[in-house]
This record gives sequence, structure tokens and C-alpha cells, in this order.
Amino acid sequence: MTTIKLHNTWTRQKDVFEPIDAQNVRMYVCGPTVYDRAHLGNARPVVVFDTLFRLLREVYGAGHVTYARNFTDVDDKINARSAESGRPIGDITAQTTQWFLDDMGELGALEPNHMPRATAYIAEMVDMIGVLMERGHAYAAEGHVLFAVDSWKKEYGKLSGRSVDDMIAGARVEVAPYKKNPMDFVLWKPSTGDQPGWESPWGFGRPGWHIECSAMSQALLGKDFDIHGGGNDLIFPHHENEIAQSRCANPDHRFARYWLHNEMLQVEGKKMSKSLGNFFTVRDLLDQGIPGEVIRFVFLQTHYRKPMDWTEEKAKQSEATLRKWRALTAGVEPAATAAAAVLEALADDLNTAGAVAELHKLAASGEAASLLASAQLMGLLTPALGAWAEAPSMELTPFADRLAAAREAAMVSKDFGEVDRLKAAFVEAGLEVRMSKSGVELVPTTGFDAAKLEALA
Ligand SMILES: [Zn+2]
Repeated sequence: MTTIKLHNTWTRQKDVFEPIDAQNVRMYVCGPTVYDRAHLGNARPVVVFDTLFRLLREVYGAGHVTYARNFTDVDDKINARSAESGRPIGDITAQTTQWFLDDMGELGALEPNHMPRATAYIAEMVDMIGVLMERGHAYAAEGHVLFAVDSWKKEYGKLSGRSVDDMIAGARVEVAPYKKNPMDFVLWKPSTGDQPGWESPWGFGRPGWHIECSAMSQALLGKDFDIHGGGNDLIFPHHENEIAQSRCANPDHRFARYWLHNEMLQVEGKKMSKSLGNFFTVRDLLDQGIPGEVIRFVFLQTHYRKPMDWTEEKAKQSEATLRKWRALTAGVEPAATAAAAVLEALADDLNTAGAVAELHKLAASGEAASLLASAQLMGLLTPALGAWAEAPSMELTPFADRLAAAREAAMVSKDFGEVDRLKAAFVEAGLEVRMSKSGVELVPTTGFDAAKLEALA
């Protein structure tokens, strides 16, 4: 069996991956808070852990891997979005959840086996908070329940490599008069009338964010499981707090064994932010005509533990490469197994950049069947993602709309000069022009030349 090595944030080294039960390898990854479209940075962990999921399925068998990723559907950001838009919370979370699944599906991400919504696990969270209180790790104060980090001081901070005192000095902690230690974090907080809430032993309220992952991973994967993943922005405080909650609630268990964190994403060398004007969603890119497969391929060319720089140039090159590979593998049956070198690279702490280098070698030597099987192991060159490569790479609708508008104007002016000029230019660019009462349709012929069309834009 292939030996997988993974860099474990907990041990700060590359460890040989030994699952607790090879018949049921279990992975939990923190999912999105559903109040808006996923931006490009949100998509990186999805692609990274989807690739790991595929590797685990390859090595242990598809039926022997369980992957859970949550949806946070109770959160103050969602409440704020509802208040400012006047839309019911349930509408916002349902729509955003579907957007997320659609957008990530376009990136070739398989759906996890479990996709729990936080609001469906409130009872489990309340139970866990109760256990933490019984064991002296949590206390109630002014309608809140807080985790007492002093009760876990020896271990708290181990994942992120900081002591509690360092954290207090360095962190922007929310100071509240009811906290015994400024690092204590919220397990439960009170809700007022218009906020979502549930009855609990501590009054009407709602859970803090961290407790949901502890409660849901335990319910779905057990008190011990193999891999816990997420972006490295979650190491502290989110994952540190998850560990504190789960280990204190279940002192005889170890919670997750391997902690994996992906680095962040940049755009053209800069941090993506709304203030820099380089902030965009996955859907924005898809709407610009950048295929989801291209986005996935760009991501995979950088190792997950390095910052990923999204550039237009990379997207262009990746599109050209995939187009070439798709042409090379058209009508070819994938080989029975992926190339050994590709599997080896992936098994070495998910070295996707190395695996892509191997794909290039296979393409260069014309090994189409092996290229296809190996790329498909990484979620590339799959039939489901291929429609874009068959269609012309340009969005034709704006050109069709322009001709339709010219025709409408000509009906009034009786001057068909512009209509004739556009028609001739489209034919010259290799398009068949179909005009009917219902509208204008442009169909690319084999002589389609995108550059000529672009010159008209
Ligand atoms: Zn989480």
C-alpha cells in the first residue's frame, strides 16, 4: 500500500499517515459560514482537501473514507446580513449553501459524505457544553457560557505554539467584564427576540462558533478521528478552541490526530481585499468565462503549504495546457491506474506541484492513457468538467446581442449598413450567423478565430 506522509501542524513535521482504522479513514474540514458567495480564497481549502479526499479514496478505497465538512448557518454575520437586507435568515443560508455547492462543483470538488448544518446539531452542542461545565472547564456568566482556558492552561496554545500569556499579550481579545480570563471564549450566548435562539439550561440563546465543529465532528466521526483540516487562519483561535473543547469533554480521547492547514491566497502578489479592489468570488471568475477546471488547475500548481498567487497570466497558461491535454486524451480510455510518480508525489504531503510536473512529462511523451488516469486522480480532465474545452473559449452572447440591437435600430431607421457590416465581420471571424424573429444566434464553425472577433470588441 502507498505510504502517505502529511505535514502535521500538531507535531510540526511531516508524519507518516497511519489511520486509526484503515477500513474507515475519517477527515473533518471546517466549511463556510453561509451568508455570501464564496470568494476565491474560500475555494482553496475546498480544492486542497478535495484532492486529499481523492488520494485517500485511491489508497484506502472509495468506500473506506468518510469526509465531513460543515456549514455554519448560525452566526452574527448572517444575522447582520438578514437585518440589512430584510430577508429571512433561512432564505439567506439556504440560497448561499446552494451557491457554495454549485460553485465548488464547478471546481470539480466531490461532495463530502457529510455536510452537517450547525443548526441541526444544537442539541449535541448543548450536551457538550453541559459536560464541559460538569468537568469544571466552563462557567456561566450573565447569560453566557464561557470556556475557562485556565482549566486547560498546560495544553492551550500547543497547536499554534503560543502560551496563554503570549496570546493575551499579542491578541486582540474581546474584553468583557464577565470573563475570568480575557482568553476565555464563548460556548453559548444569549439571544434577544429577533435573533435566532434555542432554549438551553443557560437560557434562550445560540452557540458560539467553535463548539459546532467539536460537536458535529464527534457526532459524525467519533471522539477520535484521523485528519482535521482548514485554512491556516483557523489555527488560532478556532482550532485551538476546538481542541480544548473536545479534549476536555472527552479526556480519554485524542480528538484529531493529523492537523492540516493550507496557506492563504493572494491576487497578483497582493493580499485579496475589498479595499484593494482585487476581491472577487469564484462565481465572478466563472462568469468571466474562466472555466472551473482552470481555477482548480491553477490552485494545484502551488503546494498547499505555500501562499498561492492567483494571476491572470497563470489562468491563461493553465487554460492553454488543459486544452492541449484534453485534445491529446480525446477518445482515449484512462489507464487502469495513475502513474506511480504522480501517486508518489501526492502521497508526499500532497505535493500537487510535483504531480503536475509529472503530468507534463506524461503529456510530452505522448502517454495519453496514463496522463488521463493520473490527471483524473487529481480531479482534472474529468468528463464532468470538460464542456468548456469543446465550446469556443469566448463568450459570444455580447456579440449576438450587439447584432440584435443593430437590427432593431435598423427596423426603425431603415438603414441596414451596421447590420450588414457586423454580419460580414462575424462570418469573417468564422461564425455562422443565424437570425430569426426570436433573436440572433452565433455558432462557431471550424474556422472560428477568436482574435478576429476580439478585435471587434
Ligand atoms: Zn471548525
